Amino acid sequence: MLRIECPCCGPRDHDEFRYGGDASVTRPAHDDPDPEAWYRYVYVRTNPAGLHREFWQHVIGCRQWLVVERDTRNHAIASVDLARKLSARKSPARKPPA
Ligand SMILES: [Zn+2]
Repeated sequence: MLRIECPCCGPRDHDEFRYGGDASVTRPAHDDPDPEAWYRYVYVRTNPAGLHREFWQHVIGCRQWLVVERDTRNHAIASVDLARKLSARKSPARKPPA
């Protein structure tokens, strides 16, 4: 069982959250005509043994999107941050899923 430390609500069971996908991929620009870039964004994923950045939404809580850095080998959570806070610092193309 995972316990995710929501920045807004505190530690909660992972049953309160919905997994939103890989947070380490970068979305191409909306007008990028390269089908290969879109193919990689939608379908190509790595399967790392170690730290992995993931989107999670606190659906039974504050409904915020989070970026959780989790070790796939033992499920230890290294960091949790609000996705909107991180996306404000990065390119506008990097947003949490809708
Ligand atoms: Zn929350």
